[in-house]
Amino acid sequence: MTNSILFNYPLNSNQIESLEAELSEINRKINFIIIVSTSNYDLIKKIRSNYLTCPICERLFKKEEMKDNEKFVCPEDNEFQFLKEEIQKFHEFAIENHLVNSKKTIEKLLKENKITTSNIINLTVDNEKDIFSGEIQEKILKVIMNL
Ligand SMILES: [Zn+2]
Repeated sequence: MTNSILFNYPLNSNQIESLEAELSEINRKINFIIIVSTSNYDLIKKIRSNYLTCPICERLFKKEEMKDNEKFVCPEDNEFQFLKEEIQKFHEFAIENHLVNSKKTIEKLLKENKITTSNIINLTVDNEKDIFSGEIQEKILKVIMNL
C-alpha cells in the first residue's frame, strides 16, 4: 500500500471530519503528523505586513513587487485576477485563521487518530530566510523520505 502526503490539510475541524470519513471508507488512517511552527512573533508580523497570499494555491508573494493599481495574478493560477484590496483581505484572513485554528486542529487530529508522540515530527522556523530560501521545504522533504 502506498502512502499519501497531505500538505497544509486539514486546516479546521470540518476538514478533519470529512477527511476521516473518507479515510475510513477506504480503510486508511493518519499515521504521522509533521508540524511546522514558529515561536518568533516578529516573523509572523513580517509575513503579515510584507507578503500577500494567493487565495487559490495559498503561496506567499512579496507585497512590494505589486503596484497599487495592478491586479494580482499568481504565476500558478494565472487564469484568475484579484484586486490588491481583495488579496490583502484574504491574506489577513488566512493568517488570522491559521493562528486561531492550528492548535485546535492539531489537538483534534492527535486525539482522534491516537497518534503517539513518536509519530509527531516538529520542525521550527525562526526567520524569513528559512522559508523563502527553500530551507524549511528541504527539511520537510527529508523528514518525509525518512518516514
Ligand atoms: Zn496561486
